[in-house]
Amino acid sequence: MQFNFKKFLFLVLGILISSFSFSQSINSEKLLKHIEFLSSDELAGRKPLSSGSLEARKYILNELTGYENVQALYPDFIQRFSFVSGRDLKNYEDAANLVAFIPGSSSRKVIVVTAHYDHVGIGRPDAAGDSIYNGADDNASGTAALMAISEYFSKNRPYHSMMFVALDAEEMGLRGAKALVEDFPYPLDQILLNVNMDMLSRSDKNELYASGTSHNPQFKSILEKASVGSNPTLRLGHDTPGTGRDDWTKSSDHGAFFEKKVPHIYFGVEDHEDYHKPSDEFENIQPEFYINAVNLVLKCILALDSEMAGQGNVE
Ligand SMILES: [Zn+2]
Repeated sequence: MQFNFKKFLFLVLGILISSFSFSQSINSEKLLKHIEFLSSDELAGRKPLSSGSLEARKYILNELTGYENVQALYPDFIQRFSFVSGRDLKNYEDAANLVAFIPGSSSRKVIVVTAHYDHVGIGRPDAAGDSIYNGADDNASGTAALMAISEYFSKNRPYHSMMFVALDAEEMGLRGAKALVEDFPYPLDQILLNVNMDMLSRSDKNELYASGTSHNPQFKSILEKASVGSNPTLRLGHDTPGTGRDDWTKSSDHGAFFEKKVPHIYFGVEDHEDYHKPSDEFENIQPEFYINAVNLVLKCILALDSEMAGQGNVE
């Protein structure tokens, strides 16, 4: 048979296109495995410095540091910090943010992707006698997404550098995020933006929010364009000053970046019936929504990375 160059070209093109579209998504099997483990009873709600939290640390570090092209910015990838809790007045020493760095191809600017891995631990039992606050949606979901997205970028080099940070002690007052911006390895104006993820795994309305564009309008059209016809629907909002609890600007770790005038986008869902209850567990997440939501976050990060290109380029 004669070699048909045209056919060959189409075949190669087909493989390229299919592998390209395939590569623009996260590993959903691993994503579900991560969230299931982090929210298991074994980890007992991941209260800072509890044995469950230490086990979570080990698991997250093993993942984050095992990917290709990952560099350490702190000794052993851990930024240690301590604080006194205003609630129980205890001194929490050796709390830990887990930090992995992936150098970008062309820019000195950094996109800092964050998710808190702590939750509230063991507490008052509910009517069913369950006292473990598993924090599956809040925020094993964001932490598992952090790992999956970081694995994606370890194989698909971003334009800007990216820092992936699993933050500790959010539930005690954004402690990990505050420690990070106080002891950041670069000048803060080198941060292009903070992308924070907190609660991504369930929505009866099939809606994911990207909050922060009222403060950072430069991201608005990029997010709108990236989410045309998306599943779930991407909604902008929950960031109007003076609207009380409806304003999420300081509701999670991105608040610490906001205080330092670093731009942010926060991805999350609206509160649900299991919010901060022992029933926020793996059985109650919506796996299909969750996988789609994380892929949408990835798509938005890819759009931000390419559309904001041209700033702080390496000569
Ligand atoms: Zn949270």
